[in-house]
Amino acid sequence: NIGDTRPVIRQLDDAAINRIAAGEVVERPASAVKELVENAIDAGATRIGIDIADGGKTLIRVSDDGCGIAADDLPLALSRHATSKIDGSDLLNIHTFGFRGEALPSLAAVGRLTITSRVPGADAASLKVSGGRMGQVTPAALGIGTAVELRELFFATPARLKFMRSDRAEAQAVTDVVKRLAMAEPSTGFVLRDVSGGGEGRIVFRADPEPGDLFGAMHRRLDRVIGQDFADNALRIDTVRDGIRLFGYAALPTYSRGAAVAQYLFVNGRPVRDKMLFGALRAAYSDVLPRDRHPVAALFIDCDPTLVDVNVHPAKSEVRFRDPGIARGLIVSALRHALAEHGHRASSTVAA
Ligand code: ADP
Ligand code: MG
Repeated sequence: NIGDTRPVIRQLDDAAINRIAAGEVVERPASAVKELVENAIDAGATRIGIDIADGGKTLIRVSDDGCGIAADDLPLALSRHATSKIDGSDLLNIHTFGFRGEALPSLAAVGRLTITSRVPGADAASLKVSGGRMGQVTPAALGIGTAVELRELFFATPARLKFMRSDRAEAQAVTDVVKRLAMAEPSTGFVLRDVSGGGEGRIVFRADPEPGDLFGAMHRRLDRVIGQDFADNALRIDTVRDGIRLFGYAALPTYSRGAAVAQYLFVNGRPVRDKMLFGALRAAYSDVLPRDRHPVAALFIDCDPTLVDVNVHPAKSEVRFRDPGIARGLIVSALRHALAEHGHRASSTVAA
């Protein structure tokens, strides 16, 4: 009797919805760290501390000295599609890292999350969510700012837990995420610690806030992240075309690497891994590098937010330009020009 087996359509409950959405936002510890550090940057933090244990699998803690969240707003911050970052539906005009209001509820759906926060003129408060179930707001102790602690990531989704790589590999991915965000925000201080086994832990990466003008701060921060001699071996790029600004540093061909591991690209301050942009970088160096060598570069593309869609993927590391040809053309021509000019200068020095 077909009537007995007819499928029943039911609305999923919130916990299930959050867990499904979490699969898109939170792939591994590094994606959780990315969301939390981006929130800290959006909150105007000047110092951000990141602690991880066991590659982030057992503990991720991100603390900031940003604007904080009022105690009454804590439950809202942990609710789906609740954000303070866009008003209404202006998805074309995004100036912050966040805007979906999905990160905190997703993280809370796949781990045990405690958020503690304090705004000026009020006491700190704390809220715990475990396996999607929200507790009560309770008094807590904290300076102005926010601390989010995420324990036992993916304990509620064992399938995802199986896909975790070694502690070492996950810690490496976390470090990479922190370094990329540190390059994008030179005026913010970052300290990443490995606290596996408890105690003070071991500093994995540290970058103090860099004062000064854009290029000065960027130059010092890139030296700090990529390595001491990067900026001295790189050409400074700064050019504008068709309303798009391209700036940053592109290393000399002699500073190339055997793998494409040190290519850092940013669109409107957001670290991206975009095939089209990586392709443009490769094309720019095609005449000066053999096929098995890869350029090193940190390049920033700034344009009107309406010219680029960062809404392509929940993890937001891909972007879509309204006119991809313009961005590609700008990178290829600006870098080729800078490399050629440097080549001329170098050879004329030798000749003289
Ligand atoms: P989104 O960043 O897309 O708005 P999230 O789920 O990451 O969504 O955060 C929800 C809201 O919680 C944010 O819009 C913000 O108001 C608040 N929030 C989250 N993290 C912080 C933080 N570190 N400092 C201050 N406010 C925060
Ligand atoms: Mg966010």
